[in-house]
Amino acid sequence: MAHVRNFTPGPVEVAANVLAAQHGPQGLHVGPEFSRAYVRATENLKPVFGTSGYVGIIPGSGTLANEMAIRAMLDEGQTALILDAGYFSNILKKSVECGGATAVLMPVPEGQPADPEAVRAALSQRKYDLLCFTHVETSTGLQQPVEALAKVASDAGVPVMVDSVSALGTSSAQIDDWGVSVMTAASQKGLGSVPGVGLIAVADEAWDRIEAKQSPRGGFTDVIRWRDQYDAARNWHPSLTTMPVAVVHALDVALDDMLNTRYARHAEARDFLCNGLKRLGLRAQIQANARAAGVTAIKTGDRFASSELVTYLIAEHQLRIAGGFGTNREEVFRVAHMGENAQIDAMKSVILGIESFLSQQV
Ligand SMILES: *Cc1c(COP(=O)(O)O)cnc(C)c1O
Repeated sequence: MAHVRNFTPGPVEVAANVLAAQHGPQGLHVGPEFSRAYVRATENLKPVFGTSGYVGIIPGSGTLANEMAIRAMLDEGQTALILDAGYFSNILKKSVECGGATAVLMPVPEGQPADPEAVRAALSQRKYDLLCFTHVETSTGLQQPVEALAKVASDAGVPVMVDSVSALGTSSAQIDDWGVSVMTAASQKGLGSVPGVGLIAVADEAWDRIEAKQSPRGGFTDVIRWRDQYDAARNWHPSLTTMPVAVVHALDVALDDMLNTRYARHAEARDFLCNGLKRLGLRAQIQANARAAGVTAIKTGDRFASSELVTYLIAEHQLRIAGGFGTNREEVFRVAHMGENAQIDAMKSVILGIESFLSQQV
């Protein structure tokens, strides 16, 4: 089968050295060799999240990490305000509701970041126990101003949970400085690794709140149990349960690359793509100062249906991009410039493919 190169916002194209770290004989999930990789990956994630606090690597995915973070921060019967910027914001709502809490959605204007003053006003209208939002809304490529939003929440005394599943690793995060209590991610997007683990970062200040929770915490998903296991047995059995060992080794290698940070590379790739497509008369959905570093949504401008372009690029150029979401599914296509594809050359191949698609349109 021909290899189709992934420009989808998760899973992403994975570098050969990261893929190679998964192969070889199956190792143990206990003992010094695995523990070294798990601990090194954990410690390397701390500067990526911008925290000196706890980071958990949990078998599963971003959704699991979100549920774990929200469940840790919210008691049954409490209320979260969720900034609704699209599809993944609505998934956060489900994570709030499955723990017996209430979610109130605040719509974010199309194509723009949330206005911190509007969020301040919303937070003053009633008592909220948590503010949740997506760092990058993967369905549109919107990046939220996390620091400014966390500031208004902190002024209102409301803790903040940020879903950074598609943002972490594509631009800088500083949760300790920003005043974010918990941030989540996964291995298979901006960090450029293979799927299989969810990630949760907890700022030191958040533990009082987490430990004060009254309603049931869950078992496997109780972040306190994961933290205590890590602290008690990091040299021998740092995870609470059996880990996908190969996935942890791949993540460990991907983070090694990450530390020579790739942020500049992601922003360059995004700007190259946006400029190249602008020359072809195609515009990004999001205004320039709020575009995500790892994924861009482009409007088709009613010139074609996005699914035609997606199909064409797979068939003719072995490139896989993504369509739009929900009601504007056919009016938008999305190109991820994450991980291995956060490079000018990769963007050139996408622009060339789109150019040849457009030249066939009558
Ligand atoms: C992909 C994604 C998720 C879901 O992550 P999974 O690893 O598929 O569970 C959640 N939030 C955002 C913003 C995402 O991009």
